[in-house]
Order: sequence, then C-alpha cells, then structure tokens
Amino acid sequence: MPARQRYRLRARSDRELIREVEPGTTYVDGETGEEFEVVGKLLPLAPSQSDLPYSVENLRLCGCSLEQLVEKDLNACSHCGRRLPAVER
Ligand SMILES: [Zn+2]
Repeated sequence: MPARQRYRLRARSDRELIREVEPGTTYVDGETGEEFEVVGKLLPLAPSQSDLPYSVENLRLCGCSLEQLVEKDLNACSHCGRRLPAVER
C-alpha cells in the first residue's frame, strides 16, 4: 500500500512528471534541463489502498446503488465494501 503522496510536476515546455517529492528538492528534466514545478497533488490522496492515479482509464463503476467510481486495482469498493471481480491487466 503506497503511503507517500505523489505530485504532478510540470516544466515550462509542458512536459509532465508524476512522482513523490522531497521538500526543498529541485527536480530537473534530464532531457531539456528545465526545472519542474509542482502543479498538483495526485488523487487519491495518500495513504490510499490504490496504487493507481485517479483518472478515467483507471476507474470503473462499483455497480452498487451509490454509483461510485473505484480504482481498478482495488478488490473491494471503497464506498460500500462490495467485492469486485479482478480486472485483466
Ligand atoms: Zn460500491
């Protein structure tokens, strides 16, 4: 279970990187030499049971009446606790 919060970093040329960050550390794009700026926290916020970024391609509907979206790598709905079938990778 990942406990570290991950962040979205962006360079001036719009190149993006997703990683954990250490406070006070500057991250530089190895190819362009540009500095990355932290532009956002990645959902789900740590600590989360899912290792996947909270984005459309990683979500599925639980199927319960709450109609909540759940990360595909979870084997139970985080809203209602219903067990979910494994997803083919
Ligand atoms: Zn549910």
